[in-house]
Amino acid sequence: MPTAIQPTRAEDFPAWYQAVVREADLAEMAHAPGCMVIKPWGYGIWEQLRDRMDERIRATGHENAYFPLFVPLSYIQKEAAHVEGFAKEMAVVTHHRLEARDGVLVPAGELEEPIVVRPTSETIIGESMRQWIESYRDLPLLLNQWANVVRWEMRPRVFLRTREFLWQEGHTAHATADEAVDETLLMLEEYRRFVVDNLAMPVIVGEKPASERFPGAERTYSIEAMMQDGKALQAGTSHFLGQNFSKAADIAFTDEHGDVVHAWTTSWGVSTRLIGGVIMIHGDDDGLRVPPVVAPTQIVVVPYTKGADADEELLAYARRVADALAAGARFRGEPVRVKVDDRLYRPVDKKWQWVKRGVPLLLEVGGREAEAGTVTVRRRSDPAERSTLTIEELVAGVGDLLEALHDAYLTEASELLAANTRSDVVDWAGFEAAFAERDGVSPFVRAPWCEGATCEEQLKPLAVTIRNLPLDQPESVGACVLCGAPGTAEAVFARSY
Ligand SMILES: [Zn+2]
Repeated sequence: MPTAIQPTRAEDFPAWYQAVVREADLAEMAHAPGCMVIKPWGYGIWEQLRDRMDERIRATGHENAYFPLFVPLSYIQKEAAHVEGFAKEMAVVTHHRLEARDGVLVPAGELEEPIVVRPTSETIIGESMRQWIESYRDLPLLLNQWANVVRWEMRPRVFLRTREFLWQEGHTAHATADEAVDETLLMLEEYRRFVVDNLAMPVIVGEKPASERFPGAERTYSIEAMMQDGKALQAGTSHFLGQNFSKAADIAFTDEHGDVVHAWTTSWGVSTRLIGGVIMIHGDDDGLRVPPVVAPTQIVVVPYTKGADADEELLAYARRVADALAAGARFRGEPVRVKVDDRLYRPVDKKWQWVKRGVPLLLEVGGREAEAGTVTVRRRSDPAERSTLTIEELVAGVGDLLEALHDAYLTEASELLAANTRSDVVDWAGFEAAFAERDGVSPFVRAPWCEGATCEEQLKPLAVTIRNLPLDQPESVGACVLCGAPGTAEAVFARSY
């Protein structure tokens, strides 16, 4: 049977990804180079995701605030590792007006100090923290910002690497190192729970190796998800910044004994990249499959009119079904998001559009259903299968149907991760062989590592990196899979986005 998306995942995974983004109406690479236009269906997913994440951020005691897009270059320069890490991808504003010269507009009014468009906000928020924090009584300071950031990607890919993207960035300051570490791990766990419960995305939780740390951090933790091609996607990060940024920005406070001490800070973020993850974890050869929790519309009713003509009687029935669901049905305690697709397209075209968009439940109603007071239900997890329910049965059971869909997606993704995670690789020969199997799915290899920077170098020709050192470590580890020296921790090795 022909699939709605060409090429298929097996034929060309990267081209399939681009096709799903287009066919599911999610986004397009913009006229402005390297940036994306997020279309309503894609942005609707982001809004669901954002609102749910925001709820968790508030529930854990953080408050939202907003800081400027423009960061004076001198702020960024204060933290040496930070400036070095971001130097290659900063958009810099050097002028503040245009002037016509010989009929051509040219930048004029050169700024005394160039301004960086925020790639992240540690430094500018640090300046405010310095002014807001005086005493230990002002701590902890728990902030979050929802914003856009700019990183000058040379090879942009929609949702995964774009020059501008949307995210939340949490920034906190604490009186002790222990408290700051607890905060870092608390938000990491929030991220893990969030992606599992809302995006049906199983992840490996762990600490990044030194080479992959956030520039300026003492420790970086991540959640890593496996895409259907076996590559890893870093889905969220949480950083313990120690006193690096507080010393650079002089975020100091008077402690209980009257001593002046620098605060310990953290930062953590998730971004629109998560949508790329949802596509690559859950999409199939017919398009996207949106996890029900974050679907902008969870249920769509398509009236099966003759051709593209309006049929007022049938439309009225379709609206009755939708109204009954909106009024009576619940999914995880919330009203369901349902709509009638009454556009004047042929029903079969509308149906395929929703399949490609990945709407969780599609309800078909035609003359027969209207007469019998029923609906035909198609689940996106299994579009070939149909069931017929009365409106009452549907209202009562739709919450369970959506929950079952979430569970099915989570189970599939967990099985993919388990099936392609190898923990039987013990030496370099085996390691090379594991990543040499080019067709099919690239693996996650979980194996001992000596945490040496030199032996990590030998991964480069394989385009493999250490994703993280999982938090759940065994009691003892064997020899380093790369160099044979005594291992100090188990690591997850993979190719990645
Ligand atoms: Zn080694």
